[in-house]
Amino acid sequence: MLRLPPFRYVAARTPREAARVLADHGPDAMAVAGGTDLYPNMKRRQFTPKVLVGLRGLEGASGIAANGTLTLGALATLSEVAGQRAIVARWPALARAASLVASPLHRNVATIGGNLCVDTRCTYYNQTEFWRASIGYCMKRDGDVCLVAPGSDKCWAVSSSDTAPVMLALDAEVTLVGVEGDRRVPVKALYGSDGIHYLTKRPEEILTEIRLPDRTGWRMTYRKLRRRGSIDFPVLGVAAAARLGQGNLVEDARIVLGAVHVAPVPASEAEDFLRGKVLDRETIEAAAGIAYQPAKPLDNTDLSYAWRKRMARIEVARALREIAGLPTGDLP
Ligand SMILES: Cc1cc2nc3c(=O)[nH]c(=O)nc-3n(C[C@H](O)[C@H](O)[C@H](O)COP(=O)(O)OP(=O)(O)OC[C@H]3O[C@@H](n4cnc5c(N)ncnc54)[C@H](O)[C@@H]3O)c2cc1C
Ligand code: SF4
Repeated sequence: MLRLPPFRYVAARTPREAARVLADHGPDAMAVAGGTDLYPNMKRRQFTPKVLVGLRGLEGASGIAANGTLTLGALATLSEVAGQRAIVARWPALARAASLVASPLHRNVATIGGNLCVDTRCTYYNQTEFWRASIGYCMKRDGDVCLVAPGSDKCWAVSSSDTAPVMLALDAEVTLVGVEGDRRVPVKALYGSDGIHYLTKRPEEILTEIRLPDRTGWRMTYRKLRRRGSIDFPVLGVAAAARLGQGNLVEDARIVLGAVHVAPVPASEAEDFLRGKVLDRETIEAAAGIAYQPAKPLDNTDLSYAWRKRMARIEVARALREIAGLPTGDLP
């Protein structure tokens, strides 16, 4: 049995207090929300914080308000996000992504803020301490070399959040609370370019709120590829959204790929290609052929990376067909 390492638990009452405790303890402290990712990682000794700052009791960080825009408290659970009627009706890609994370038990505890901040993953890293010691560790924890790309000076662990690509596709913004003050940043700016420092926020900053703009008139979807339909991290996620005019003319479009790089990857060239075109079969195939190109899967997750790259093209096409109201070609 894997046991948690010893730690002191500090239940913060406000985001500022949480940030202050984190700042005071530096690298010895971490925040925990639902704990569905952090606790298993601690059991494997990927993290051994001496102090855990519990966020569950934070004032005013768990509500959901859907007016024109959508405001999510970072502590709202994924079950709440997936089941909220207004989200299902008006931001359905987000509801679907949340509903596909892990298992129902996880989703009842896991938070939307934790999902956006979830650690990057790699076959050589998401292993027990014993396993990692036997191969001499790797750069992400306790070692010097990247075992996937030994010549690389950076870590390529994979961004594995299901909701992050959707948040990028829908132009969400997050509020970060630090010791000195608060700031609001686009979700796109939250992610870095390295699997170790995968978030750009300061370590003590607490994500308290996520805001999504009104997407009335947009159609959207999220598609997820994984080995087991019942419970598995994505090996590919595709978030797509489009505002269509008369005759399915694309007025605006967003496509973001998940689980193919250290951060969610916007397929900007495909978005540009789609604008002003009719979303028919031919356009969709051409757009998918452009959209999958920035996907950079490596041999560090489940299933073959060459197949995952090919599937990115197929899943983008399926997502766009869903949006156009055409048959997706999914097996029944
Ligand atoms: C078996 C299994 C399957 C899983 N499958 C999936 C999956 O399919 N898709 C997927 O996306 N995830 C999956 N996960 C990972 C995890 O369950 C989810 O990502 C979940 O949403 C994490 O939320 P949490 O509240 O539990 O985060 P925690 O575990 O509490 O925290 C995760 C990280 O985020 C930080 N953090 C949390 N909240 C905040 C905040 N408000 N401000 C600043 N930092 C914060 C923590 O310090 C920690 O580094 C799986 C996990 C397991 C164990
Ligand atoms: S990508 Fe390389 S450095 Fe990063 S976790 Fe995997 S093996 Fe380690």
